[in-house]
Amino acid sequence: MKIDQEYIRVVGNNISPKDIIRAITDTGKQDEAFYVMNVGEVIRKHELWLKTFPKIKPFYAVKCNDSKVVLRLLAALGTGFDCASKGEISRVMSLGVPAERIIYANPAKPSSHIKYAAKVGVNLLTFDNQSELFKIKELHPKAKLVLRIRCDAKDSQCPLGMKFGADKSSIKALIQLALELGLELAGVSFHVGSGCRDLAAFSEGVLAACDALTEMVYCGADPYILDIGGGFLESTIHKVSLSVNEALESVPHGISIIAEPGRYYVDSAYTLATAIHGIRGKEYYINDGVYGSFNCVLYDHANPLPIPLKETHNDDLKNFKIWGPTCDSLDMVNDNVLLPELEIGDWLVWECMGAYTLPVCSTFNGFPVPNVFYIATEDVWKVVQDIITLANPEDQFDPVNFNVTLLQTVSS
Ligand code: PLP
Repeated sequence: MKIDQEYIRVVGNNISPKDIIRAITDTGKQDEAFYVMNVGEVIRKHELWLKTFPKIKPFYAVKCNDSKVVLRLLAALGTGFDCASKGEISRVMSLGVPAERIIYANPAKPSSHIKYAAKVGVNLLTFDNQSELFKIKELHPKAKLVLRIRCDAKDSQCPLGMKFGADKSSIKALIQLALELGLELAGVSFHVGSGCRDLAAFSEGVLAACDALTEMVYCGADPYILDIGGGFLESTIHKVSLSVNEALESVPHGISIIAEPGRYYVDSAYTLATAIHGIRGKEYYINDGVYGSFNCVLYDHANPLPIPLKETHNDDLKNFKIWGPTCDSLDMVNDNVLLPELEIGDWLVWECMGAYTLPVCSTFNGFPVPNVFYIATEDVWKVVQDIITLANPEDQFDPVNFNVTLLQTVSS
């Protein structure tokens, strides 16, 4: 079965990604690793977001997974987009998303990328240092600036504070310099770290951002945005919302609240299937590794765990090492994981692989980046069609360009 890119197959309501993986691998024709992407998960996450954070508009962090299906879906659902570069801005705008729905949220931007943002009308830009202000003054003087402050979670999968975010001690001077240069200060942002496990971090960030907003007003600016960044996980979003929504009560009137969730929207939507093509004692060799999808082990500090596709008995589990397919010994997916004795040609299933995987994959050693098999259940497909129809025409989102096709129904 050929796996096309960027088409959505509509499947029966009781069909799961694992059923699809079984259907594909049972053909005996699928050799390479592949993903099944469940469109319904992204819609479910958006609905949960709206319910949990009714006052916070999400600007999806494109870096996390720049699939056009994901971007088109979120564009139709009405989210904004957090872009890190000219390339991401161009990708999002090529789908008909207007510049006003984009925040260029990289505090250290190459000059040519700032010029591009100015040319296409992306005006909302973050900064955290003086040299960025001088560049922006020269290349994008009409920019609306969001000061990123440092607010680190005590525990996160990927801390970001050592690279970005103005220290408390530098905030006043940055505000004053921006105003001296005649630049517009639109607001304040922070990012607690990706995959945040510290429940108090977001509300602490909101309070620190409120102080910075107050300082802006004191210095003569008129800010109107508070951006609480990314770092959200579905498992903790409810608890986080209780303290964040309470902290938002202290935000001055007239300030719009936005966020930049990435991982939250896409992680659970993607399930990866890999085949075992080599066995050496208690070592399995599979057809995707750290130069492919499992780059997340190195860059995202992730610890993905496999589930054998075929039925096995739990009492026969042993410790195995899992290697990726390249000739590099760094290409180790897991050095100690409990698995049954499997055979060459058996498949392993990896859930929650949608965040910080595909955009970073390489073809090192000639191994291809896994294809994605997009699915929507019949009920979800009806919702997708409604979303497209309802997408605001002012958004210049053209439903005809929503490149998804009802191809076939895979039944169990
Ligand atoms: N915003 C910025 C500026 C980021 O750097 C990142 C991740 O690195 C995100 C948002 C998305 O974070 P997450 O995927 O943890 O929600």
